[in-house]
Amino acid sequence: MDRQQEFVLRTLEERDIRFVRLWFTDVLGFLKSVAVAPAELEGAFAEGIGFDGSAIEGFARVYESDMVARPDPSTFQVLPWATNEGDHYSARMFCDITMPDGSPSWADPRHVLSRTLSKASEAGFTCYVHPEIEFFLLRTVNGDGTRPEPADNGGYFDQASHDAAPHFRRRAIEALEAMGISVEFSHHENAPGQQEIDLRYADALTMADNVMTFRYVVKEVALMQGVRASFMPKPFTDQPGSGMHTHVSLFEGDRNAFYDSEDPYELSPTGKAFVAGLLRHAREICAVTNQWVNSYKRLIVGGEAPTTVCWGHANRSALVRVPMYSPGKASSRRVEIRSLDSACNPYLAYAVILAAGLRGVQKEYELPPAAEDDVWSLTDAERRAAGYANLPQNLNEALIEMENSELVAETLGEHVFDFFLRNKRAEWDAYRREVTPYELRTYLPML
Ligand code: GLU
Ligand code: MG
Ligand code: MG
Repeated sequence: MDRQQEFVLRTLEERDIRFVRLWFTDVLGFLKSVAVAPAELEGAFAEGIGFDGSAIEGFARVYESDMVARPDPSTFQVLPWATNEGDHYSARMFCDITMPDGSPSWADPRHVLSRTLSKASEAGFTCYVHPEIEFFLLRTVNGDGTRPEPADNGGYFDQASHDAAPHFRRRAIEALEAMGISVEFSHHENAPGQQEIDLRYADALTMADNVMTFRYVVKEVALMQGVRASFMPKPFTDQPGSGMHTHVSLFEGDRNAFYDSEDPYELSPTGKAFVAGLLRHAREICAVTNQWVNSYKRLIVGGEAPTTVCWGHANRSALVRVPMYSPGKASSRRVEIRSLDSACNPYLAYAVILAAGLRGVQKEYELPPAAEDDVWSLTDAERRAAGYANLPQNLNEALIEMENSELVAETLGEHVFDFFLRNKRAEWDAYRREVTPYELRTYLPML
């Protein structure tokens, strides 16, 4: 047993913890959990915990359904609240999923990301990310198709001290910090009920784990405050949606490989080629970064979400932004990818953006000129003349792009790639068949 495993067992005993939840993530980005008693943990470290993979979305074909969850002791954290049964706390650890013979499961999103990170590391890079996570606080979530009611009436940066939000944000941040997740900023976003919490950077695998924990903690804290939190990309037709802008940098040892003091954007050739990779592959990775039918309702003109494949520095309509908040500071040189929404699978989304950027670096793609104009104010024809592609306008278009992508197939691996496409085609077909309130409202009186 290694020192981390010993630390986990000692903490369980010292804090009298009765349950350890072993967490992992399915292909669509839903958190899965199996609780084990501390007495079982030594065995779980040695052999893992077996489960029926065929019952997990995207995991296994029925004839090879036995899978094993192997807890990663470096992710051990005590949950910041007691369970209902008394004063006992529970803890959690993320797991890697393997086959019974110990080989990694090809269906495990965490493995998809660590495989991609290994490729980055073979090229000498460590990848750091930090997300700005937007979401809504709502009074209730009915699930019956009625318009939800936001939990407050605040706007951008409003303190809104009489509403639920500031207390909510403080509680949520305390809970996140207690679990080792540092929060950098938080504020009220543009729309009523809309919040943003920005996490301090971490390596990409830790951050994907953090995003999963974040969604869980935020939903729990909201419930404790009598409201509901939703990461749905676009719950309101007439309000902006919830993005998860993601800042990325590559380090070579201690050196930020994106920084160059001589360049007007302080962006090195590596940084430029990385952005060029993000742009060139933007359309084919979009189904992964924006995986729901509803995701594409957010990617429209206005609302500060990107619609066009271009980059800029102040330009908030661009897909990729090179922020200049702290000029001259090498360690903070990074690029911001604005397409991701808060309901993506963070493991898969980080894997495809990293793969796209690295492809740019490896093949030395050339970066097109920056788009400093507000690309939203251009007509379609002007945009085409300027050489900007649009992001896919719906899930179907994104899936067609993904289907033909050798980059995404290679990054996700055959199993996840096939499952994802099949599952998302079914989602699109179900949506396509549905006669919507929009059609009834528009056509019934007219036709
Ligand atoms: N809510 C916007 C989006 O969907 C982002 C607003 C902002 O710039 O923070 O991307
Ligand atoms: Mg924001
Ligand atoms: Mg941003």
